[in-house]
Amino acid sequence: MDHKVIYDDGQVKWYVFGRDTQKPNSIIDTNEYAIEAGDEVMILDPGGTEIFPYVLSSVSEVIGLEKVTKFLCSHQDPDIFSSLPLWMALCPNATIYMPRIWSNFMSHFGKECSSNFYPVPDKGVDIRLGNENLNIIPAHFLHASGNINLFCPRSRILFSADVGSALVPLDYPFFIENFEDHIPLMKGFHERWMPSNVAKSAWIRQIRSLKPTMICPQHGSIFKGEKMVNQFLDWLDNLEVGLLSHD
Ligand code: FE
Repeated sequence: MDHKVIYDDGQVKWYVFGRDTQKPNSIIDTNEYAIEAGDEVMILDPGGTEIFPYVLSSVSEVIGLEKVTKFLCSHQDPDIFSSLPLWMALCPNATIYMPRIWSNFMSHFGKECSSNFYPVPDKGVDIRLGNENLNIIPAHFLHASGNINLFCPRSRILFSADVGSALVPLDYPFFIENFEDHIPLMKGFHERWMPSNVAKSAWIRQIRSLKPTMICPQHGSIFKGEKMVNQFLDWLDNLEVGLLSHD
């Protein structure tokens, strides 16, 4: 599994982990992200059980596990956090932020971890990591009926969970190089997995107001810079979602 530091200003550091060449082909590739601020680390969508050993070894290479105090679980899908009990065995005191409506479902991955759950209200919540503020913001129906994203005001990086996701080959760069070439890799994913044009439009309005410098999805590659962020938001604005192609 590869990793890259995508932001570091001496106060906040963002890592992406992904491009897992050890995983079986039957498992969709995922990106895991970590934010380091002071003596705390938060892992965003830490991944499924099947890839846990690879994520753990890659994370351990660059981050002391004793610093991991928080996890974000954007929604309930198994590739997001079915590794829950494995992580909790290593970080038993960590807090897990997840959409309010999924907490009882997430308990199916490990009910003994439910005392670590922080059910995020529908309107989101502001949290602290080290000395930094982080905003957990709503992204409901994108694609899950309870779905959260995370915005870091200092770096202006948005973790967008499945929004912006693409199915890319394992040798594809972490940062998108050509937006037009990237469209075919994400179009079908959004048409099928995003069920609501109304929710999509509301999300785009919310995200435009934040002026992110990067949009970081859970599959695929990162939209970096104002130009590419706006290209993506404009493209998504014009895309009809909730389509069934029957292929
Ligand atoms: Fe998902």
